[in-house]
Amino acid sequence: ITADQLAKDTVANIKDTDKKLNAWITVDEDAKPAENLDFAKNKLAGIPIAIKDNIVTNGMKTTAASHILDNFMPMYDATVISKLKKAQFTLVGKTNMDEFAMGSSTEHSYFGATHNPWNLDKVPGGSSGGSAAAVAGGQVVAALGSDTGGSIRQPAAFNGIFGIKPTYGRVSRWGLIAFGSSLDQIGVMSKRVKDSAEVLNVIAGSDDHDSTMSTREVPDFTKFLGQDVKGLRVAVPKEYMDAVDGKMRELIQKQIDLLKDAGAIINEVSLPHTKYVVPTYYIIASSEASSNLQRYDGIRYGYRAKDTKNLLDVYVKSRSEGFGTEVKRRIMLGSFALSAGSYDKFFRQAAKVRTLICQDFDKIFAENDVILGPTTTEPAFGIGEEVSDPIKMYNNDILTISANLAGIPAASVPAGLVDGMPFGLQIMAKRFDEGNVFKTADFIERSN
Ligand code: GLN
Repeated sequence: ITADQLAKDTVANIKDTDKKLNAWITVDEDAKPAENLDFAKNKLAGIPIAIKDNIVTNGMKTTAASHILDNFMPMYDATVISKLKKAQFTLVGKTNMDEFAMGSSTEHSYFGATHNPWNLDKVPGGSSGGSAAAVAGGQVVAALGSDTGGSIRQPAAFNGIFGIKPTYGRVSRWGLIAFGSSLDQIGVMSKRVKDSAEVLNVIAGSDDHDSTMSTREVPDFTKFLGQDVKGLRVAVPKEYMDAVDGKMRELIQKQIDLLKDAGAIINEVSLPHTKYVVPTYYIIASSEASSNLQRYDGIRYGYRAKDTKNLLDVYVKSRSEGFGTEVKRRIMLGSFALSAGSYDKFFRQAAKVRTLICQDFDKIFAENDVILGPTTTEPAFGIGEEVSDPIKMYNNDILTISANLAGIPAASVPAGLVDGMPFGLQIMAKRFDEGNVFKTADFIERSN
């Protein structure tokens, strides 16, 4: 098959299958591979890839699944997009997500909910639910997502695919529509671990446009695949095991036994501040979001309300009409946590707890290579089941949030089925040690 034909077939298949999944916001009907494909230099030349719709693409609509940006046409490419283009991937379009990446189910999208390909009545998780469903539904082999508190790992777990959030500073955030700037990171989702390693090879690496980027050298992540796990020190936090019930524990235990049989060393550990991570994250992420989202004022970007009387009216009406309920909730929560009377009580406290959470990890990684546990406390829930209960929705994130607060790499790898729905195992490592994450994930993939 030629790359040209592959692009055509991919678009045709998406148009057909997406009537049920709604995984895409924009599909480029004329998607074409780059000219002069160089297969010797670019292993994945001509491979179609999906992009979450909060990553800006020159000349391709980028909406962040929001009414306020539903007609936004960027004039530049995010750094990750330039890198994918240079490596000659075929960009086929933009995937659905929770508005501004705020959510855990892809139900908070201006373009309607995405459905889980394993069971159309279930959510695909979120906020990168469109990317996950596109991969799991066989529309593309790989997709980019973003992860501020679990938005790559939780949908990967809910869809039975692999997904990795790299170390904070490993992949440029330039051109990623900001949510929580100290937490956001772009990452990769794919069925096979190897495909994510290949794509991460392409998108990682220093970038002058993002001052939080590390300049350290990027290893070839594929070289960590196919290794044996003898001597690998695997920490299993008891708080994470206590968060899941019988069937899921069995699946995790099975994996632990396999690792042990292969020579890995298993240590039970504790992450004592786990019970504080949800409030800590929601204060920090919402505070940063309330600041980042000030730029949507009806003047510079996107939607502007009609029939306005004065400047203040333009701001108020454009934002009131342009943002959805969940985004408004975060802006209010964040503005409150940062306000003069509450800053010490909320934001400062959360920042301090964040340090304690980082110290929990430092302690564990002084004696262990990876942390292993469940990605989520349950498999995919039903569409409509949790969307009206924000606290319930937020509590979904208890196992994924800590990695963002600490800036460490973390992935979810499929570990079997619970009541017919996929269940994922989470692997974390210390900063810039994606290598051990890939090594462990690859072992789990091979043993399943
Ligand atoms: N579910 C979390 C939230 O709603 C995380 C989202 C994300 O990682 N982008 O904030």
